[in-house]
Amino acid sequence: MSQDSKLIACRVCGVIMVKLARDVCPKCFQEEEQLFQKVKNFLKANPGATLEEVAKHAACDMEHVEALIRSGRLERAGVKRVAHPCQLCQATIYDGVVCAECKKSLKEQVKMLKDISKPDQK
Ligand SMILES: [Zn+2]
Ligand SMILES: [Zn+2]
Repeated sequence: MSQDSKLIACRVCGVIMVKLARDVCPKCFQEEEQLFQKVKNFLKANPGATLEEVAKHAACDMEHVEALIRSGRLERAGVKRVAHPCQLCQATIYDGVVCAECKKSLKEQVKMLKDISKPDQK
């Protein structure tokens, strides 16, 4: 083992492994790939399907589908319209993780936090 090989926990199942190009172990990577293909094909055939429908079709938890959406891989594969809930207010959205309204208020909150945590006010 070279000095810079690093041990990490698999992002999905938590098994300890040497960090390679990915942060998931080969087993989980394969499962994720299969899920990704299933979800991608389903959404291409059923644009605008809801998270629930996708999860049902792929026989997996909705969280897994949400994770795929968040990773941006589906978008890169050309699948854009997945109906899923805004992370904050549960409104139905088709891209990103929060709706336009929440995005706006998040921006305002971040701005406020920045104002509060100015170094000269410590
Ligand atoms: Zn794993
Ligand atoms: Zn929202």
